[in-house]
Amino acid sequence: MRVLIIGAGIAGPVTAMALRNIGIEATVYEARRGQPESPGLFLGLGVNGMRALDELDLLEPVLREQTIPTPRSEFRNAAGQLLGIVCNGSLRDGIPSVTISRGALQESLAVAAQSKGVQFHYGKRLLTYQVASDSVTARFTDGTEACADLLIGADGIHSRVRQIMSPIAPGPSYTGLLNFGGIVRDSGLEPTVDTMRMVWGRRAFFGYTVRDDGEAWWFANIGHKSEPKRDELDEISMASWRQKLVELFSADPAYITHLIRRAPSIWVAPIHDIPSIPRWHRGRAVLVGDSAHAVSPSAGQGASLAIEDALVLAKCLRDLAPTRAALERYEALRKPRAERIVAVGRQRGNYKAPPNRAAAWLRDLMMPIALRLFATEERLAWIHDYRVDWHEPITPAPA
Ligand SMILES: Cc1cc2nc3c(=O)[nH]c(=O)nc-3n(C[C@H](O)[C@H](O)[C@H](O)COP(=O)(O)OP(=O)(O)OC[C@H]3O[C@@H](n4cnc5c(N)ncnc54)[C@H](O)[C@@H]3O)c2cc1C
Repeated sequence: MRVLIIGAGIAGPVTAMALRNIGIEATVYEARRGQPESPGLFLGLGVNGMRALDELDLLEPVLREQTIPTPRSEFRNAAGQLLGIVCNGSLRDGIPSVTISRGALQESLAVAAQSKGVQFHYGKRLLTYQVASDSVTARFTDGTEACADLLIGADGIHSRVRQIMSPIAPGPSYTGLLNFGGIVRDSGLEPTVDTMRMVWGRRAFFGYTVRDDGEAWWFANIGHKSEPKRDELDEISMASWRQKLVELFSADPAYITHLIRRAPSIWVAPIHDIPSIPRWHRGRAVLVGDSAHAVSPSAGQGASLAIEDALVLAKCLRDLAPTRAALERYEALRKPRAERIVAVGRQRGNYKAPPNRAAAWLRDLMMPIALRLFATEERLAWIHDYRVDWHEPITPAPA
C-alpha cells in the first residue's frame, strides 16, 4: 500500500513512522516551505502522548529538544493565593510531562521520520483530491500531482482534506478566547521548578513556567466575544496588544505584567475547536489529529491526541482488512475519546474570562473544591493513563 500524508505538523510525521514500522510506504506533503512558522508557541505534551511516542521509540528524540519539565500545574487566584495543584503525571522511570515549543516538536518528529527514510515534500499545498476505484490522486497548488492507495489528512484545524471529504462538516468553532504567548530570556523570576503556574486573574487567565536559567514561557487567554479575522489581529500593533494585556492584568500578581512587558514579541491567535464532525473517513481518505477533532489548548491535549490517532490508525491498517473496515474501526475507537477531550477543553476555557466580578468571585470560591474533587489523579486517569499498546492486535468491531 502507498499512502499520501497531507501535513507535516505532529500527526503527519508520527503517522508516517507508524506506517513505516508496518511496511507501508508513506510520503508527506507539507504546505510550508521549510521550518515551522511559529517556533515561539509552546504546548504541554501530556503523558499519554509521550507514552504513545515511546511506543514508536520517538520519545528520546523529542526529549533531546529544549523542554521544561511540568509534571504539575499550580492554580492561583488574582490575589496570588494557591487554589490547588493538579498532577500532569510522569512516565516510567519518573520522566515528567514536559512543555515544548510547538515548532521544535514538529521539527524533531520530521527529522526522526526522515532519518527512517520517510520522504517529505515541502511547499506542497493540497488544492484538491480525487478518488478513483483503485487509487486517490492529490493535486497541489503548484500544479503537481501525486497518486496512492490512501490519502491521510493531517493538515490541521483548517483542513483542506476535511473540506473536500465532507463539504457540509462544521468547520472550526470560535471559543470566545484569544490566546497570547511570549518568551522572556532573562526573566529575573525564580524558577517554577516542575510547575506550570496558572492564575485566574480578575479579568483574564495567565500561565507561565520559568526554567532554571531564568527563561520564562508565558501565555494569556482573554475573552473576546466576536471572532476576529486574522488580518484584523495583524492590524493591531504589538505595542497596543502589550498595553491591553498590561491593563487587563494590572490588578493581578505583579509577575504577570512584568513578563508581558519584557517579552520581545507577543504572539496572538483566536482559539478554536472542532467539537464533532459526522465522519472521519470516506472512500480512500481519512483524517488524523486536529483535522478531525481540534481541541482548545485549555485541555493541553491536542498534540497528544494527534499522536494517539497516528498509532491507532496504523494498527487498524496493520490488523484489519479491507481498508474500509480498518478506517471504520479507527474512527469508532478514536472518536468518542477525542470528542470527550474537546468538550473538556471547551469547559475549562469557559472559566478563563468571567463576564463580571460576581462570576469571578464565585469561580474563585468554587475552584478549590472543584480542583480537589474533579482534578485528582484518579479523575484524570482516563486522559493521562490511556495507552496505545503498539503490539496488541486490533480486533474487528463486535458484530
Ligand atoms: C497556541 C497553541 C497552544 C497549544 N497548546 C497545546 C497544549 O498545551 N497541548 C497540546 O497537546 N496541544 C496544544 N495545542 C494544539 C496542538 O498544537 C495541535 O493539537 C497539534 O499541533 C495538532 O497536530 P496536527 O498534526 O493535527 O496539526 P498541525 O500541527 O496544525 O499540523 C498541520 C500541518 O498541515 C499543514 N497544512 C495545512 N494545510 C495544508 C495543505 N492544504 N496542504 C499541505 N499541508 C497543509 C500545516 O502547515 C501544518 O504543518 C496548541 C495549539 C496552539 C496553536
